[in-house]
Amino acid sequence: MKSFAWLLCASLAAVLVAAPALAQQARPGQQQPAQTNQLAPLDVLMRNFESMAFGDAGERSKWTAVTRWREPVRAVLIGEKSDQFRNDVRGLFAVFEMLTGVPFSLADGDGGANVRIYFSERDWYRTQVARSFPRPDQVVCFTNTSVDTNGVIGAANTVIPEDLSARGVRTCLAHELLHAIGFQGHPMRSFDSALRNGIGIDRLTVNDQVLIRTLYDERLRFDMAPDEALTAATAIVTALQAKVLEAKDPLDVLAQRGRLPLTIPPWNGGPV
Ligand SMILES: [Zn+2]
Repeated sequence: MKSFAWLLCASLAAVLVAAPALAQQARPGQQQPAQTNQLAPLDVLMRNFESMAFGDAGERSKWTAVTRWREPVRAVLIGEKSDQFRNDVRGLFAVFEMLTGVPFSLADGDGGANVRIYFSERDWYRTQVARSFPRPDQVVCFTNTSVDTNGVIGAANTVIPEDLSARGVRTCLAHELLHAIGFQGHPMRSFDSALRNGIGIDRLTVNDQVLIRTLYDERLRFDMAPDEALTAATAIVTALQAKVLEAKDPLDVLAQRGRLPLTIPPWNGGPV
């Protein structure tokens, strides 16, 4: 579920993408599926990469396929629960930094931050979520991402109610920060990923690690249409898959160290 709104930002139009984590309705006796954290087969990875990276079917942006950060990410945590979850955010950022080649850090104050993570009181959360989503009762936590016409992310706001359980907050952090780094949609609920809705996963899976690395590969260009980007992504995942299956720690073979900043193409014909 996503909603679009146009924001005027200087002379450029930016699109604000809002993506939530949705709750699974509790059913008595429901078992959590076993977590194996194994890399999915290529066709499953690519089918889910398509919906995760380019958005859920029917809600795709007309102008951009790939959305990513180029500039260093500096996040600020806001709210009384900040201290409790600072290390969880640090852990996710350390992995993001390795996989994307973009620096991720926590900012000292709000001034230099381009990502804001709110641990919000329930009343404030209700007001915010009612503004953005048609079925607010289903939205556990959400992220707004501001994206320019090239697909470059300029800012993101993640909102998590502070009255969730610690596991609930960690599940929201893993899920929402994947939206904040550029994943616009969701995988199938059977796909082992922190981005799936329903029964959440409170950490990044090996599937997530491979797909983050793929989204930030320089062979995926900002000016590619979804079909072109998917073809390029399939070649990238195919090569990564072989390395990951042989590695003891997938991060050893997935890290992008010393990559040059991703290039922005000339104006791509999007709105001005
Ligand atoms: Zn989501």
